Amino acid sequence: DNAQPKKPAWIRVRAPGGHGYQDTHRVIREHGLATVCEEAGCPNVGECWAHGHATMMIMGEICTRGCTFCNVATGKPQALDMFEPGRVADAVAKLGLKHVVITSVDRDDLEDGGAEHFAQTIRAVRHRAPDTTIEVLTPDFLKCDPSALETVVAAKPDVFNHNLETVPGLYPEVRPGARYFHSLRLLQRVKEIDPAMFTKSGIMVGLGEERQAVHQVMDDLRAADVDFLTIGQYLQPTPKHHAVARFVTPEEFAAYEKAAYGKGFLMVSATPLTRSSYHAGEDFARLKAA
Ligand code: SF4
Ligand code: SF4
Repeated sequence: DNAQPKKPAWIRVRAPGGHGYQDTHRVIREHGLATVCEEAGCPNVGECWAHGHATMMIMGEICTRGCTFCNVATGKPQALDMFEPGRVADAVAKLGLKHVVITSVDRDDLEDGGAEHFAQTIRAVRHRAPDTTIEVLTPDFLKCDPSALETVVAAKPDVFNHNLETVPGLYPEVRPGARYFHSLRLLQRVKEIDPAMFTKSGIMVGLGEERQAVHQVMDDLRAADVDFLTIGQYLQPTPKHHAVARFVTPEEFAAYEKAAYGKGFLMVSATPLTRSSYHAGEDFARLKAA
């Protein structure tokens, strides 16, 4: 049954609005771009867009996978748009972003999973906005040749992010079509290919996972040399999506954050409204300055 626990007071979402928000909205529209902020119905959109921070979603709005937590449509995707990397780069420059997160739908229909398109987008942003730090949040390239991952890493994003999304025991129902150890190994390979690159991953909690399993994920990520970790509360995009098992308390998030730093992560964000890209720029700037 789909009866949901009541949203607690700490899940407060500010309504989007204001000048910064409108400006971001306009630039995104004018460049014909999609954002995860909108596609995922992210609760932070008001705050992030007001600060000119957005997560660009490339390679279309239709995904070849159907994760049960995700609001992106599943189906046969559109052909790649060769002008998209340039438009993303223009938008990043116009928005004056210090840090941009670039992500995509999963493209199991493409032989390289879209790796070359990712690489072109990274290079276009680098060229057009050389001071902007670039974070990619990639699919798992599950069915691709290992060279696909190498293509993305060779384009030298500052941060390579790939989300595990949930604990291994919940993969069959939450992330069908993905493999926990494949995703873990992908992150480890990034570090092997380029030891200077920062790696990052994240999970959602409140999907029914045990605390012990979250600690195991942290250990697995550290064993794969992953640097940054995000943990946020799962929110159900529509009643058709995976149910919220419970709302994890702010105290439990604080305990996860403390444990994660204890395990050696360089940067951790664990709060109810943490999203993979939430405050990513500020956090990264702080780390570089330290
Ligand atoms: Fe967009 Fe990420 Fe901010 Fe959400 S947290 S609004 S997805 S940039
Ligand atoms: Fe959503 Fe990504 Fe899963 Fe596609 S692969 S359904 S975009 S979470």
